[in-house]
Amino acid sequence: MSITTRFAPSPTGHLHLGHAAAALFAWRAARAAGGRFLLRLEDIDPTRCRAEFADAILEDLAWLGLDWDGQMRVQSAHLPEYAATLATLRARGLLYPCFCTRAAIARELADSANAPHAPDGAPLYPGTCRGRDPAEGAALVATGTPHAWRLDMARAVAMVGPLDWNEAGHGRIVADPASFGDIVLARRETPASYHLCVTHDDAAQAVTLVTRGEDLRPATAVHRLLQTLMGWPAPDYAHHRVLIGPEGKRLSKRDGAASLRGLRAAGLSPAQVRRMAEIS
Ligand code: GLU
Repeated sequence: MSITTRFAPSPTGHLHLGHAAAALFAWRAARAAGGRFLLRLEDIDPTRCRAEFADAILEDLAWLGLDWDGQMRVQSAHLPEYAATLATLRARGLLYPCFCTRAAIARELADSANAPHAPDGAPLYPGTCRGRDPAEGAALVATGTPHAWRLDMARAVAMVGPLDWNEAGHGRIVADPASFGDIVLARRETPASYHLCVTHDDAAQAVTLVTRGEDLRPATAVHRLLQTLMGWPAPDYAHHRVLIGPEGKRLSKRDGAASLRGLRAAGLSPAQVRRMAEIS
């Protein structure tokens, strides 16, 4: 089977060495196997993404010497597809509208000692809106009350049964999506969540090997759940080491010194930067 990988940055800042490492990892995995390497712009959050960063991403990747196959997929151009996925899940009774503000959730959690957290560190939603009469929820939605759509996790997990994924070189890994609780799949300012868009697009782009940093390994459980609910194929996964900055912390976009254009301005060549971004 031929391999298709992808690099999926969000245009919320300039690419840094950590992105170069992720892009090179995906690019090499595809090119070594004579496969396809795709690009995807994860620009679904208008509060954080900026067009100028999107242009800079393409320029930086080209400078680094990476080539990609076909046109870059731009998520913000596909909102109707994500809306259709949400409608499918809603029609199967797997989503419910949540009217809680972030502040109200924080207050509720502050009142309960030892509030549990999801593997990504976010506090688990306490389920306040889950039990609401669907007719009442629908009426509130119809009158324009601000809301998010949450996945009824227990119901979804019961529907699909046990899940796992193939981690390249390591075999099957058990997926535990329930540890994330009732995740948000859409909210007013972000019409589709990262989890929804990433699984939708990996299927739409026929990605066969998802490569990404090991910090996203727990999220793969949620992605396997959404893939199974939607009947999308299960890609293989290769979670790779994440580059660490001088202070022993994960590189971040705020760490301007490590930006690719900063390194380029300092006179480094693409070959030197590629060596610095070596992770395998
Ligand atoms: N847009 C995500 C990021 O920049 C991509 C994550 C993924 O590859 O699934 O972290």
